[in-house]
Amino acid sequence: MQMYDLLIIGAGTAGLSAAIYAARGGLSTLVFEGAMYGGQIIVSPTVENYPGVGCVSGADFANSLYAQAEQLGVQFAFETVVSVEDTDGKKIVKTDSAVYEGKAVILATGAKNRPLGIAGEERFTGRGISYCATCDGSFFQGKTVAVVGGGNTALEDAEVLAKLCNKVYLIHRRNQFRGEASQVERLQKLDNVEFVLESTVVELQGETSLTGIVVENVSNGTRQSLQVDGLFVAIGQVPQNAAFSELVETDSHGYIVAGEDCKTNRAGVYAAGDGRTKTVRQLVTAAADGAVAALAAAEYIRAM
Ligand code: NAP
Repeated sequence: MQMYDLLIIGAGTAGLSAAIYAARGGLSTLVFEGAMYGGQIIVSPTVENYPGVGCVSGADFANSLYAQAEQLGVQFAFETVVSVEDTDGKKIVKTDSAVYEGKAVILATGAKNRPLGIAGEERFTGRGISYCATCDGSFFQGKTVAVVGGGNTALEDAEVLAKLCNKVYLIHRRNQFRGEASQVERLQKLDNVEFVLESTVVELQGETSLTGIVVENVSNGTRQSLQVDGLFVAIGQVPQNAAFSELVETDSHGYIVAGEDCKTNRAGVYAAGDGRTKTVRQLVTAAADGAVAALAAAEYIRAM
């Protein structure tokens, strides 16, 4: 069994920030990542609200974090974690290919895209439905698409797609957006973006690929069909904490219960980033969590 001071699960902004702080604090640190490092921000075309970095792409931001952690001696295991156990204070992490022991663990697995939950969604995924405008937008060049959601991701997606597509419908269930007002104003100025507010998508149409959607107005129940070639779903995230539900307390939505000190109900186990109960989920709060959790873990390890 390979042994480390600190095991960090997830290489998004929270996990990588934690790794940087842990390595600088002298802890031997291993970060697990089941897919690509970087987390959710990797598909954002621009990051404009992280203090001090100006305007960078999400991919560049993630690459810098990863490079900084690696230079400090952080090790990475690109393996999927299947369980975390606490055996007499030893934290045992099992992945799909190995077993590791740590003195403390930081859970930083973040969240994944929330599905619409309507009939046909799975069937049309990759055949008209996408959850990533930056990744798939170019397939819809010159076509008509719709974006669902009212947060920053949906607004950002609509802006990206407006540059590529003939027409973009932005469908949101309320008449006010959750995302930043400045981005809403930019979209309002674009001729090929049409807001469809107080509306939800209730039906997906098409044989082998998506050809249209039916949208229902939530206040008066009227329905309209929109002919679209693509539907980009950007309605937030759901936490990825299923593997930890027996290890630590989670709330009714699956978020790990931990305060601003990032401490869970289990000694030596910390939660950082979007997977933790919190009100503001931003890059800067994910990074802050990483620092707080790593420093708390270092203190816990020193006191062992
Ligand atoms: P979000 O802020 O949680 O917004 C989700 C949106 O989807 C909300 O408008 C919500 O409507 C809507 N929604 C949720 N469930 C729905 C359903 N079942 N059907 C229809 N609509 C539904 O998620 P996000 O936009 O992915 O952003 C996540 C976090 O990342 C946010 O803190 C955001 O600011 C941040 N972010 C930052 C950047 C950046 O800095 N460049 C880019 C993207 C995201 P209601 O408003 O009615 O609840």
